[in-house]
Amino acid sequence: MGELLGLRCLTCGRDYDAWSVDYFCPHCGPVAGALTVEYEYRVLARRLGPASFADTRRNSLWRYDSLLPVSGEYAVPLRAGGTPIYDCPTLAKELGLGRLWVKDESQHPTASCKDRGTAVAVAAARMLEREAVCCASTGNAATSLAGFAAAAGFPCFIFVPKNAPRAKIAQLLAFGATVFAVDGTYDQASSLALRAAEKFGWYNRSDGLNPMVVEGNKTAALEVWEELHGEVPDFALVAVGDGSVIGGICKGFLELGKVGLSGKVPKVYGVQAQGAAAVAHAFARFQDGRPILPAEERAETLADSIRVGKPMDALRAVRAVAETGGGYVTVSDEEIVAGAQELARRVGVFAEPSGAAPFAGLLRLLREGTVPEGARVVLFITGSGLKDPEGALRGLPEPTVIPPQLEAVDEVLGER
Ligand SMILES: *Cc1c(COP(=O)(O)O)cnc(C)c1O
Ligand SMILES: [Zn+2]
Repeated sequence: MGELLGLRCLTCGRDYDAWSVDYFCPHCGPVAGALTVEYEYRVLARRLGPASFADTRRNSLWRYDSLLPVSGEYAVPLRAGGTPIYDCPTLAKELGLGRLWVKDESQHPTASCKDRGTAVAVAAARMLEREAVCCASTGNAATSLAGFAAAAGFPCFIFVPKNAPRAKIAQLLAFGATVFAVDGTYDQASSLALRAAEKFGWYNRSDGLNPMVVEGNKTAALEVWEELHGEVPDFALVAVGDGSVIGGICKGFLELGKVGLSGKVPKVYGVQAQGAAAVAHAFARFQDGRPILPAEERAETLADSIRVGKPMDALRAVRAVAETGGGYVTVSDEEIVAGAQELARRVGVFAEPSGAAPFAGLLRLLREGTVPEGARVVLFITGSGLKDPEGALRGLPEPTVIPPQLEAVDEVLGER
């Protein structure tokens, strides 16, 4: 387990003892009072070397437990982390890039990147001897929590917008969670979960609320660093809704520097849909290190996992990206759909629309010249296409129906 120092408020800078508060700074309240986990970095710098993680011989995020707040002894058996990273030399060359890697976060037990944050939050709940867990989610955080709660034997209470994709609802029900399908937006589901958790004493995994989630999320960056043998890319791109995933990824890259394992931090870019870009707008207004909270906005995009109008972790997402020297880019739904199709056809990775948004974002940053020729880029693909087959089918032709005869195959091939 890590050299845990405590929790620090992102707005007022007050420090709290580890485990003395669960979610946010009592002075600043939710969202503004988001907390970040601090470690004894100098002690860790003396203790950690390039082989420290490999020496654990664990093929999951618990290989990084020297940089985590909870010991791996509290982990449930479901594996989080250890996802593959793919080198894409042909595509890189076509795009004029030096290197292109795809970190396939859809290869998780519940098929999204959310399993990282969940693994650490559920381990924390076990250590703290909590009796039930809950979360609000656009879908993936909920299915992730439901799966890990099943493995832990925790009762699990879920708040999702009632229009969440059916495959995600199916996962929730299969894992045995109590599901509240809220007749409202994700943002309304989020406030409701907060109140219910307080009333019933549930441990809340919601993004932007629980700082343990960010600690799990950061391990995706640690894996990239380790898998590329310390050769950190120039740019890293990931889709942004609430901002917890990108906040974690930035923290991971930055902490590698703090413990002396890496001298370089990639410029991290957040990708949002044009119709749901509250974090990107907050970033544009961010100046002189002053935290600026986004106003609530309308959120309309087919990329349901990033359909967030009132981002719960915007402060972290804005600041952390600024610290890496990165930024935000927005893309249209058409670009997201085309990006998902190209990613599937060219790399063989089938992503849900939100998961593929970084590919669309990369094309835009290349056109703008923000990502220069020869750059080395990693894309975090956050969720599986199997999560939303209807979304995946958009714009694709239906297969040709034929009788079971060889001539029919001939005929179809002849037409092409
Ligand atoms: C949750 C999620 C994101 C964005 O993460 P935030 O922490 O909400 O910014 C992106 N893609 C997928 C598939 C997700 O499930
Ligand atoms: Zn505070």
